[in-house]
Amino acid sequence: MNAPGNEPVDIETAIPIPMAMLAELTHRCPLKCPYCSNPLELTRRSAELSAEEWVEVFRQAAALGVLHVHLSGGEPASRKDLGEITTGAVEAGLYTNLITSGVGLTEANFADLAARGLDHVQLSVQGVDAEAADRIGGFRGGFDTKMRVADWVAREGIPLTINAVMHRQNLDRLPETIELAVKLGARRLEVANTQYHGWADLNRAALMPTPEQAKRASEVVAETRERLKGTLVIDYVPPDHFAKYPKPCMGGWSRVGLCVKPEGKVLPCHAAETITTLEFQNVRDVPLEEIWKKGPAFTAYRGTHWMQEPCNSCERKTKDWGGCRCQAFAWTGDAAATDPVCTLSPEHARMRAAAETDSAAHADEFVYRTIGGADRARAKEPAS
Ligand code: SF4
Ligand code: SF4
Repeated sequence: MNAPGNEPVDIETAIPIPMAMLAELTHRCPLKCPYCSNPLELTRRSAELSAEEWVEVFRQAAALGVLHVHLSGGEPASRKDLGEITTGAVEAGLYTNLITSGVGLTEANFADLAARGLDHVQLSVQGVDAEAADRIGGFRGGFDTKMRVADWVAREGIPLTINAVMHRQNLDRLPETIELAVKLGARRLEVANTQYHGWADLNRAALMPTPEQAKRASEVVAETRERLKGTLVIDYVPPDHFAKYPKPCMGGWSRVGLCVKPEGKVLPCHAAETITTLEFQNVRDVPLEEIWKKGPAFTAYRGTHWMQEPCNSCERKTKDWGGCRCQAFAWTGDAAATDPVCTLSPEHARMRAAAETDSAAHADEFVYRTIGGADRARAKEPAS
């Protein structure tokens, strides 16, 4: 018999409480990273939720049980009312993490955010020196700005995480990236290999790492974690095209987090709109609690009821939840299929062969993330 409070949870009927919310405050950003996780169709400023609307979203999120809010974008500092938005999140009782490129912050407005109770900063770095970083981010002066922002964060005593998106053009410099994070006083480094949706998918031939790079990166992380124990925590998202099994994308669909887009559309993960068969609701029309508990996009792949073979009879199905729904849809046209990253997927060999072709492409030009940039790139592609 189970002790009271330890009764087994029915994963098909129990609705989990979301722990974290990604608040995409805006899609405006001075940088143009070719792997940006924002959609190809960027939301215009005129459609963005107002500060007042965001404060109401935070209140509803806290009531639902959300503990952390990631104030993200685009570049959140592109919003002049970021201070007001931050205060709203703090007053709702949420732990606030500012996800920023640093560009757009000033010393004075950062001190203001700190005074309003900002809890944590996650600063992105695109490369380890100005030449590399500014080329990848498509913004001259970005690297030097980040170095200044890291100083302000340290001065305010706010914990800092460095986020480094890795790919073929910077993965060989992973040891220097780790050194940079230590130098900047970060307590945590996210080594996030590129996820190939949206902009990154358009740039696959310029970004896909080689299998040798992927292997070496895993070794570097393992060695360095040991050496820097107590100084720096390294979160590592391996390049999944060369893995054996997929990762539990988002900790499982609609299990631990949700994303609110600049115009108020609510998604189970930031890339979910790539699944064109799903219908998404907006916090302007429907309460957040109802969207989380009953929204069609949220219930579609929560639990395991939707799984097909080989996932359905696999012992890992509540460990990795069948991997990434967006990747399954992109490769098979069916979001309920097994993530092709999995070696048990019938699509795995095709996906792996394509990844190897991309990694050997020797392309280094980027399609930068700009309004209309995706259409211009597609217009240049030869007809197939
Ligand atoms: S990934 Fe780059 S372009 Fe996209 S929001 Fe972040 S800094 Fe801006
Ligand atoms: S078959 Fe499905 S559940 Fe099993 S390891 Fe592969 S993706 Fe995970």
